[in-house]
Amino acid sequence: MSASETNGSPLKTHKQFCHESFERLKVRDDMRELLANPYRQVKVQIPIKDKNGNLRVFYGYRVQHNAVRGPYKGGVRFHPGANEDEVTMLAMNMTWKTALVNVPFGGAKGGILVDPKELTASELQSLARGYIEKIHLIIGPQRDILAPDVNTNEKTMAWMMDAYGKIHGYTPAIVTGKPVTLEGSLGRKEATGKGVAIIALEWLKQEGRTPADTSVVIQGFGNVGSFAAQFLHEAGCKIVGLSDVSGGRYDPKGLPVPELMKLAAEGGLLKDIKVGESLTNAQLLELPCNILIPAALEAAIHEENAPRIKAQWIIEAANSPITHTGYEILQQRKIPVMPDILCNAGGVIVSYFEWTQNLQSYRWTLEQVYKELDRTLLTAYRLVVERANKYQITYKQASMDLAVERVVDTTNYRMY
Ligand code: NAD
Repeated sequence: MSASETNGSPLKTHKQFCHESFERLKVRDDMRELLANPYRQVKVQIPIKDKNGNLRVFYGYRVQHNAVRGPYKGGVRFHPGANEDEVTMLAMNMTWKTALVNVPFGGAKGGILVDPKELTASELQSLARGYIEKIHLIIGPQRDILAPDVNTNEKTMAWMMDAYGKIHGYTPAIVTGKPVTLEGSLGRKEATGKGVAIIALEWLKQEGRTPADTSVVIQGFGNVGSFAAQFLHEAGCKIVGLSDVSGGRYDPKGLPVPELMKLAAEGGLLKDIKVGESLTNAQLLELPCNILIPAALEAAIHEENAPRIKAQWIIEAANSPITHTGYEILQQRKIPVMPDILCNAGGVIVSYFEWTQNLQSYRWTLEQVYKELDRTLLTAYRLVVERANKYQITYKQASMDLAVERVVDTTNYRMY
């Protein structure tokens, strides 16, 4: 990220997009105050015993932004950058995402400031359990429901569910993204990446293009990026570039996605596999391609690299992967962006299905999950495209406006 934009926080970037939406929609000042700030921000201390029996102290957050449309909902990330500012931005983004795809949740997010690579599995388990012990009073299946995010997975969710259950009794609906054998939903693991592919393929169809003529570059080969790669590869797209934290691989003829998926599933890094050319993450983002999918962390595209992006379209699979200035440069360069709150909503949509199944103690088939995911996501996609065309605004603006409008409308019913 550039020096000037590093000084600006991801929260500031996010608030700029919100402010612009409030202006377009002429949102009243009292409502702006409500929506531009979280309902609750909690910081907790989590002391754990490390493998040598010493005490190590970590800090975690749970930020609950808005619950006017349903219980708070949002993932928990384990990352050294998961500070109050970042977690608050992510919580706000969840409010807009759940509203845009019309699932009955609000927005929240959690984070623990930790580099998980430095901890053993048993230390990570203590951390996950310690976090729940500290926040259990403000969460609940009708209050705030957790899910996986960066560096957390179904195993982390199992520990969290178990820790909550030890205090409140067996409560599978407290977290989503659980293992299928532990009341998780079929289709949840791949849901976010599948959603990214659903949107990409629908966009191609809308523009009269075919997957076979489409080259794709994806930054981030974790849960979201790897499944997006798999589903786009299966649909016939050529995945020419992929990266993870260790760097990237590039092959203009197309990378062997199934082989790389196997590597990722085993915890391997792309630097360890010799296919195509190796390149840095910075180089990867500037590769020529039809579709660029940032699926790692926020602010990957910013004012310095935005002028050099060679992709024709961008699909935001990570949360907030483009800074405000970066976005403005892309708009000037007429590179359309399909926004995060639509493209990565597949995860929260199937989380909603998982929560519903848990509340009813009933299980859906994979076919049902996929069918409802498609329907829910494509309904939102069509509304976004229709609104963008009607008001001659960008897809990102249309998405924000649809979401903010829904939250404002519901608030009006509940508070006035
Ligand atoms: P993950 O931890 O499974 O994977 C993250 C990937 O990004 C890994 O391949 C990692 O090596 C790579 N990475 C990390 N730092 C990087 C860096 N500095 N440069 C390049 N690559 C880097 O996380 P995930 O669940 O796939 O989440 C990715 C993004 O998608 C995040 O923004 C997250 O908030 C968002 N998201 C996730 C979900 C979900 O269901 N998991 C849902 C919605 C949004």
